[in-house]
Parts: sequence; structure tokens; C-alpha cells
Amino acid sequence: MSRSVTILGAGLVGSLLAVILSKKGYKVTIYERRPDMRSARIAAGRSINLAVSVRGWNALEIAGIKEAIEPIAIPMFGRSLHMPDGSAAYQQYGKNNEAIYSVSRGELNKKLMTVAEEAGATIFFDHRCTHVNVHTNELTFQHEDKEVKVQADLLFGADGAFSALRSGYVTADRVDASQFYLAHGYKELTIPPAEDGGFRLAKEALHIWPRHNYMLIALPNTDGSFTCTLFFPFEGAEASFAALKSDADVQAFFLKNFPDAVELMPTLLEDFRNNPTASLITTRIFPWHMGDKSALIGDAAHAIVPFYGQGMNAGFEDCTVLLGLMDEYGDDWEKILGAYEQKRKCNGDAVGELAIMNFVEMRDKVADPVFLERKRLEKE
Ligand code: FAD
Repeated sequence: MSRSVTILGAGLVGSLLAVILSKKGYKVTIYERRPDMRSARIAAGRSINLAVSVRGWNALEIAGIKEAIEPIAIPMFGRSLHMPDGSAAYQQYGKNNEAIYSVSRGELNKKLMTVAEEAGATIFFDHRCTHVNVHTNELTFQHEDKEVKVQADLLFGADGAFSALRSGYVTADRVDASQFYLAHGYKELTIPPAEDGGFRLAKEALHIWPRHNYMLIALPNTDGSFTCTLFFPFEGAEASFAALKSDADVQAFFLKNFPDAVELMPTLLEDFRNNPTASLITTRIFPWHMGDKSALIGDAAHAIVPFYGQGMNAGFEDCTVLLGLMDEYGDDWEKILGAYEQKRKCNGDAVGELAIMNFVEMRDKVADPVFLERKRLEKE
């Protein structure tokens, strides 16, 4: 096999892609902007934990790490809705005990990196790609205080929503690209484990506090804690990040709107002050590949908002579809990348739209009395 592969980004998708391509016999090199999270104490990225669905499990099985991840995955069989009056309602996800699984993003990413290296891939950390010449595949990196040039053969951009390869594509002729920010952002907060180390809320559920224009959610972690995420307007009169200026504002707002959650959050004020407020972007681009030279994958191709819990899962599915096409077309990369784009672009766009629609469902409709009644009748 003659071609060597360069991947930008050792995140979830880049690391999984490296496993798959290395196992296929390609010589794979990854360049990652951050230090190695297995040795440095750095945050793993956009959320502490995330939900893995069937698409994700399929990909992890192919990578050979399903068994390693299963023990750190907590099934969530339904959503537990917390109403403003303190009452709660439970909605099961499926009739056959289907579940999505809460997994630590950091642990998953670390395992994928290690498996990629074991399969033969090399990862260069602290290499931030600053420029891609999409016509020649010449890459420029910032490494410590030096500029490093690399000539890539086959190149994948798995470097997330603000991908350097995507930026390179945007400068080329006949490339359509768009990005769209929600008026809402998010902030992560914590419900720590109970004093005996147990969970302070039902463990095997995704908890939602739907409040029409905003919501709080909580996913369980294996240490007994829950990571909460507040999805909240950036600006606005009363309920917005801009409006909560002081600790007293935050405390009063939470007491009024999330009374049953606030008593489980002893570090609320500290978390609210110290944790970043992050934005939520959807991106689209076409094409996803340039001849047999390069392609975008994962968030670099289709960054979506998190309300469908499918961003990583869809990126993982990009990898498994690519693997199927390698089996079909051998090493004819012009054909593989063309078919990959054809199969995946429409799905990337669709899941992006569904994710935005599900925000309205999660924050609003799930607490609607009509919706609750329909769910109750479905159960009967
Ligand atoms: P990323 O995870 O963004 O990884 C990109 C990697 O590239 C990073 O390591 C980064 O450091 C590196 N990089 C970036 N730029 C450069 C550069 N210039 N040079 C070199 N390296 C670079 N998805 C789900 O499936 N389920 C969920 O429950 C879920 N929950 C979410 C919750 C939140 C709050 C958010 C924001 C997202 C959530 N997602 C979820 C989406 C998920 O996080 C992404 O879809 C997933 O991380 C995409 O993986 P990726 O590898 O494509 O990109």
C-alpha cells in the first residue's frame, strides 16, 4: 500500500479514523494542536461527558474498544423531567429497553489515541495547523516557537468545527460554506456525588429541567457525580447569561427556576463564575473532498448543536462508512472520497437540522401537558 495518510486532529473522530486506517495497513500520522491529554492535565474539549448511541457503539466495536468502554458507560433508559413545581415525570426512550450511554469524553478520547498508536499511528502533539494549501497539500504548523512545514499525501481534516482544512477549502473556487450560531450558549455545572459516594439523582436517566426558552440537563458520571449543562440565551431581559451579573442573581434565578437541582449543587456559584460560557455552532460545507487528495470528517465536515446527542456518533459513522467504501473500492481514493461525500453529506445536513429541532422539543415540548399525556397513553 503506497499512500500515507495525514490526519489533522486527535479528537474523537481523528483518533478513531487513525485506528481504522492503520488497521487497513496505511501509514498514519496525526497532528494535534493540544498537548497529550494522557500525560497533561488538560480539559478534553467541548463537554465532560457525552451520549453514545448505536452508531457510536458500532464504530467502537470495529475499532476493537467496545469492551474497554462498556464498563465506563452508564445506560440512560429514558429522560427524567423536572418540573418548576418540583414534581418529576419519567419518559422511557424505547419499548424494548433501548438506551443511550453516558461516557466520559476524556476517557474515550484517551483510549482511542492509545489504540491508534497500538495499531501503528504516530501522533505529534502541540502541533497547531495554521495553514493548508489545498492544491498542493502542503501544511504549516505552529510547534512551540517554530513554524513546521509538512507535505501530506492523503489528508483528512478531523480538526473540529473550526477546522484548518475547512478554512483552506473555503478559499478555493466553487466551495459553498455556511455557519450559524444559536442565540443560546451553554455552561457546565456539577452535581457532586452524595456523601456515601452514591448518585443524588436516578442514575440511569438523562435529567432535563425544561423551561421553554432554556433548559438544564444532567448526565451521570461513573464517580457518582452528574455533569449539568445549562443551555441559556446569551442576551435578554431576565433569563440570560447577560442578565445574571452577580452571585446573588445566579442564586435567586436557580432557586426560583430549578429549586430541586439547586439543593444538589453546592458549588453552583463557583462553577457559574469559573466555567466558560460557550457558543453553539452549526456548519455546512460542500464539497467535503478534493479529488483523491483530501477530505473533511466529523465536526470539520458537519458541526451540529448537541441536542440530538449525535455529533460524535455521526462523526464515528463517517468513519465506518469510509471503511465500507475502502472494502468496496480498494485504494482508489478518488472513488472512495466521492462516494463518501455522496453518502454522508445529506446525512450530515439532516442530523444538523434535527439537532436544532430537538432543542425546541427538549426545552419546551417534553414538558407540554399534551406531550406528556400522549407519552402516558403510549405506555398503556
Ligand atoms: P473535536 O472533538 O472538536 O476534535 C477536534 C480535534 O482537533 C481536537 O483534539 C482539537 O484540539 C484538534 N484541532 C483543532 N484545530 C486544530 C488545528 N488547527 N491543528 C491541529 N489540531 C487541531 N455528540 C454526541 O454524539 N453525543 C453527545 O452527547 C454530545 N454532547 C455534546 C455536548 C456538548 C455541550 C457539545 C458542545 C457537543 C456535544 N457532542 C455530542 C458533539 C461532539 O462533541 C462532537 O461532535 C465531537 O466532539 C466531534 O469530534 P471531532 O473529533 O470531529 O471534533
